[in-house]
Amino acid sequence: MISNTDIREIISNYDTEDIHIGVLASHSALQILYGAKKEGLKTILISIPEREVFYNNFPHLIDKTLVVDRWKDLCKDDVVRKLQELNTILVPHGSMVEYIGSECFLNLELPLFGSRKIMEVEADPKKKMNLLRSAGIPVPREYSLDENFDDLVIVKLPGAKGGRGYFIAKGKEEVMKKLNNNVKDVIIQEYLLGVRAYYHYFYSPVLRRLEILGMDIRYESNADSLGRVPREYIEPTFTVVGNIPLVLRESLLPKVMEYGNRFVNATLTVENGGIAGPFCLESIVKENLSIVVFEFSGRIVAGTNIYVNGSPYSWLYWDEPMSMGRRIAREVILARQKNELNKILR
Ligand code: AMP
Repeated sequence: MISNTDIREIISNYDTEDIHIGVLASHSALQILYGAKKEGLKTILISIPEREVFYNNFPHLIDKTLVVDRWKDLCKDDVVRKLQELNTILVPHGSMVEYIGSECFLNLELPLFGSRKIMEVEADPKKKMNLLRSAGIPVPREYSLDENFDDLVIVKLPGAKGGRGYFIAKGKEEVMKKLNNNVKDVIIQEYLLGVRAYYHYFYSPVLRRLEILGMDIRYESNADSLGRVPREYIEPTFTVVGNIPLVLRESLLPKVMEYGNRFVNATLTVENGGIAGPFCLESIVKENLSIVVFEFSGRIVAGTNIYVNGSPYSWLYWDEPMSMGRRIAREVILARQKNELNKILR
């Protein structure tokens, strides 16, 4: 992985008065571009030819477009040099690693907003759950195939993501049957009953504070539409299709804040300075109002796209329409003013 010393070296050669916020044409790019423009920063969209057509509908959000034949070309020397010449800060999102591959992502010689080390932990399901555990955040019970159990569980197959590749089963026998001998590296978790709630946090190393900027519920196919068809005909699946806004009972907010702060502290063990910028804790609020976290994302999540014009929470901090994309750009500006870009770029 590229070292933070190398990233600092790249930033030291930047003209920080002429920054471009760069993003790959996917996931939450529109919100990130919009937020950067709102804060008066220049933008560059990195796209493949097929995507460019759609993003051309938003010329006022994009100062430059860099078209590459394949996403992985982002790591080619000439592309990296060009982006460095434009003093580009890349904002990673949930599609970036998937598109360019983890090797390119980890070695990319460009400053990224946030922490690539924490995104590396996120990509490893075991390390991910261990980080949450080490933070002292309640997580679902995990089962091993060496033990006997009768409980309702969700089984996560290796490489499963975005809710694809999961199944539900009751008891070990059913798990074994459904796994069909494919037992390597599966994660078997207690299936948590309750209401899903995904909290969008922003940790500001410049202001040294954690903000809850919003929250959502993911709408997942076909688990969320089961009521339309008799249950016995279908197996639930969890492919994220979209996001629905959420506000929480106010009495739950202190806990949400506490878990966010615990997470921030735990990331200090992953790298110096810990997490910077957006992250998400993905939870179930149980009937007894306890919160159990089954997953985290160490970067902007797509649920923030609901709040391009601010959320009921972001208004409370900023008293202006503050999306996650805009908050990222605001942090860049605050860090630049204080000469602290190294705190937010890795
Ligand atoms: P994930 O890929 O971990 O974000 O999970 C995708 C979806 O599966 C979630 O949004 C939940 O609907 C469901 N899910 C994952 N883990 C659990 C769990 N332990 N209990 C209940 N539902 C879960």
